[in-house]
Amino acid sequence: MAAMIINGKEVAQQIQDELTVRVTELKDKGVLPRLATLLVGENPASQVYIGQKRKACDRLGIISDHQTLPADITEAKLLSIIDGLNNDPGVSGILVQLPVPEHIDSVKILDAISPQKDVDGFHPFNVGKFFTEKSFSDMIDKGLFLPCTPYGIMELLKRYDIPTKGADVVVVGRSNIVGKPITMLLLAADATVTICHSRTKNLKEVCQRADIVIAAIGKPKFVTADMVKEGVVVIDVGVNRLPEGLVGDVDYENVSQKASAITPVPGGVGPMTITMLMANTIMAAKNQAGI
Ligand code: NDP
Repeated sequence: MAAMIINGKEVAQQIQDELTVRVTELKDKGVLPRLATLLVGENPASQVYIGQKRKACDRLGIISDHQTLPADITEAKLLSIIDGLNNDPGVSGILVQLPVPEHIDSVKILDAISPQKDVDGFHPFNVGKFFTEKSFSDMIDKGLFLPCTPYGIMELLKRYDIPTKGADVVVVGRSNIVGKPITMLLLAADATVTICHSRTKNLKEVCQRADIVIAAIGKPKFVTADMVKEGVVVIDVGVNRLPEGLVGDVDYENVSQKASAITPVPGGVGPMTITMLMANTIMAAKNQAGI
C-alpha cells in the first residue's frame, strides 16, 4: 500500500498563516520583527537558501536585512559585523548562512551571535537550554530557541498525529544541526531514540526495528526499502542535487511502498525549516520587547 505523504509545504503554509497573525499583533503593539541575514561568499546553494528565507520574511511581514560579504572577509571583520547587529535594538534575529569559508571558524561565529538573537538555535547557550529540558512541551512553553530543522520535524509529526511516546526512532546522522538536536527533541517527546552514523554496525538491522526513521545523511537514496519495516514512518531530511533534480536521502519510490507515511523531497522537511526560522524570529522580537 502506498504511504501517506507528509506534506511539509502544506503544513508550512498553515503555520505561516498562524505566524502572519502574530506578526500583525506585534506590529499593532509597535514591535517590528526584523531578521538580519549574512552570507559570506557566493555559494549558489546558500544563495538559494537565503533567497527562500527572505521571501518567507516578506510573506509574513518580517523585515529582512541582507548583507552579502566577500568570500575573503576576515574573521575579525565578520565578528565585528555580528557585534554591531547584536547591539542594534532594531534587529530581532541574526542568521549567518552556513557553511562559511574555511578560513573562518564557524564555531566562533555561531558563539558570537547573541543568544537572544540566535534564531537558528545553534548557540551553545540555547543548545544547553534544550538539552537540559526534560519535556518537549516545556521547551515550547518556555519559548526556547530550537534549531529550525529538528523543530520543523517535530511540528510535522505533531500535525500529522504521529505518536512519539514510546516509539522506536532511528536517526541516521549525528550532525549538530540535525542528527544530535532531533535526537534530544524526540527523547524529550518520550521516544526511544537510537542515533546512527558512518561507524554504526549493522545499520540495516538497526533501522529495521524503527517505528520512525529520520534520515539526515547527505547521500542520495541511501535508505532503501530493505532497511525499513512495513508501516514505518520516514522523515527524509536530505537534500541532494542530482542531474535528475533534488532527491532526498531515502529511496522514495520504493520505501514509500512499505511506509505508512513519508516526507517527499522537495516539499517535506525543507519548507518546515524556513517556517520555524520565521517562528523563532517572531519569538525573538516578542521576547526582546518584553511582551
Ligand atoms: P552532515 O554531513 O553534517 O552529517 C551527515 C551525517 O551522516 C554524519 O553524522 C555521518 O556520519 C552520517 N553518515 C554519512 N555516511 C553514512 C553512512 N554510510 N552510514 C551512516 N551514516 C552516515 O550533514 P547534515 O546533518 O548537515 O545534513 C544531512 C542532510 O540533510 C544533507 O543532505 C543536507 O543538505 C540536508 N539538510 C536539509 C535541511 C532541510 O531543511 N531540509 C537542513 C539541514 C540539512 P559521521 O558523523 O560518522 O561522519
